[in-house]
Amino acid sequence: MSKVLLISTGGTITMVRDRVSGALVPADIETFKAYMPELSGGDIRVDISAFDPLLDSSDVDPKSWAQMAQMVYDRYDDYDGFVILHGTDTMSYSASALSFMLENLGKPVVFTGSQLPVGVLRSDAKENLLTAIEIAAAKDEEGNAIVPEVTIYFEDRLFRANRTTKRNAEHFSAFNSYNYPALAKAGVHITYQPHLVHYSDSRLPLKLHTAYDVNVAVLKLFPGIQPATVRAVLRIRGLKAVVLETFGAGNAPTAQWLYRELKKAVDNGIIIVNKTQCNTGSVEMGLYAVSLNLMRAGVISGYDVTTEALLTKMMYLLGEYPDDPEQVKKLLQTNLCGEVTIDE
Ligand code: ASP
Repeated sequence: MSKVLLISTGGTITMVRDRVSGALVPADIETFKAYMPELSGGDIRVDISAFDPLLDSSDVDPKSWAQMAQMVYDRYDDYDGFVILHGTDTMSYSASALSFMLENLGKPVVFTGSQLPVGVLRSDAKENLLTAIEIAAAKDEEGNAIVPEVTIYFEDRLFRANRTTKRNAEHFSAFNSYNYPALAKAGVHITYQPHLVHYSDSRLPLKLHTAYDVNVAVLKLFPGIQPATVRAVLRIRGLKAVVLETFGAGNAPTAQWLYRELKKAVDNGIIIVNKTQCNTGSVEMGLYAVSLNLMRAGVISGYDVTTEALLTKMMYLLGEYPDDPEQVKKLLQTNLCGEVTIDE
């Protein structure tokens, strides 16, 4: 019998309506279990471990990511796969972070949640959770896990976690992976795409990384942005790395003050990575003249990475190599676990 560990962190899937305020709040795990009798008695054994208290994912932070990664690591040998119940709002951040924190992963870690609480009749909770469990337990004919990656399963698609973005606050199809195809589609059957899966070297043992550094920021450019706004971000005390959200293929205003501010920050040791504001496609610095200043200032390319993956990768690398910014810079331009496409 396959064994899956269900780790509940909270999210809408576990919520009930508060009688006084009318707002949705996480319920306790026993209430959740009462709504999901399917979890026991099937042909996959599901054990449950839960955060206490359960969280709305707006309250999930890097410490919670380390806690989730530690829970997987501690029980790694006891289970065939793991399902993490999580709120949808920051699921892409947590799942991206875990893809870096669990190096050489050889078993599935599937994040899922729902748009409607489990107790609501039309809820998407049951379908999402039961299919996620099946994916976490799925093995090929040789008995190897079919998708031994950190993934997000939602609505009817399985995505590589560090390629996802929450795209919809209304529809059941809450996530998308704009720059990488789905790893599986679920209909009557679950159709896997093994040629798209990232496999770690199975000879290497799972390695846990729980150090992180939160001295990072996101600076989104917009037409009319003022020097004071840019300075307010780039001059944050202790700042180590910045996601610079640019236009189109990685373009920015050519104003000299912007070039000077970016150059000064880079010269002061701040790593600045160019990430396009477009969901689909890649940064291509040098394609347009309006990106040349960024190159001259020492801004590096984020290629087709998501902001969620880039930000969590920065936190992970800065925590892992606190005294080696050159290594951080190099690895930010390296594909570690399928999070970015870099043409050689
Ligand atoms: N606010 C909720 C959360 O992220 C939304 C959800 O789960 O869909 O925890």
